[in-house]
Amino acid sequence: MPVATHTSDKEAKPVRHIIALSGGKDSSALAVYLRGKIPNVEYVFCDTGEELDETYEYLGLLEAFLGKKIQWLKSIKDFKFYLDMYKGVLPDAQTRWCTRMLKLKSYEQYIGDDEVVSYVGIRADEPHRTGYISTKPNIKAVFPFIENNIRHADVVRILEEAGLGLPKYYSWRSRSGCYFCFFQQKREWIGLLENHPDLFEKAKAYEKVDPVTGERYTWNQGESLDELAQRADEIKADYLKRKERNALAFKGHQKLKDVWGDGADSGEAIACTICHL
Ligand code: SF4
Repeated sequence: MPVATHTSDKEAKPVRHIIALSGGKDSSALAVYLRGKIPNVEYVFCDTGEELDETYEYLGLLEAFLGKKIQWLKSIKDFKFYLDMYKGVLPDAQTRWCTRMLKLKSYEQYIGDDEVVSYVGIRADEPHRTGYISTKPNIKAVFPFIENNIRHADVVRILEEAGLGLPKYYSWRSRSGCYFCFFQQKREWIGLLENHPDLFEKAKAYEKVDPVTGERYTWNQGESLDELAQRADEIKADYLKRKERNALAFKGHQKLKDVWGDGADSGEAIACTICHL
């Protein structure tokens, strides 16, 4: 893959090359895949302060493998500050104020007006995937996995060969990001309850009922985390049934399986790339 190393005529400043890591498998595999191929590459992690311990642990392993420091960008204010600013209205897939406030602000501040090539880990088997890449004209996004036909199975292989494997949370969760991320499927909330009961309680504490209007602010539409926890067995059984059904449907269709994983979750396509790659 050709790598631009020219300088900007206007600013006479070198073009910066950045890989934004989410702590997820795809951006991590991209960093491994491109190791040694991009001079002066910068690794960046935008920390919302609400990530799982497993994410921090995995980034530590990745940093050691890469042999170069990951720039740690803390969100400018914390989640609680912004939640108060939005009058207790939790972020959701439509507003996504959390991504803008907790990740993009610090990322764009870090980049400033410099010309940047941003390497994005969207895979060849998910070209439909969208999310924040850049709206700033000084940031040019490139997609090495799409250009080189790197698919889900390749990503897993890249991480295994590097001795990293997948982040531990993939045993109960399908993506990186905040422990309370509203993109989580119900079975993932149950995974949070079982693996991090303290964080489940923290997420629960952010849910509110407006005493005047009776309006409920919950992470899931139509169901509070308390109600969801009471249905834990039913949610897990439904998930296993879907998984079995899809295993049969995908039998012999590896490409479909690559795109949908076990097919029992949905919503990956709409999640943000800066949070969930
Ligand atoms: S991981 Fe989810 S909750 Fe966290 S900033 Fe991203 S979209 Fe928002």
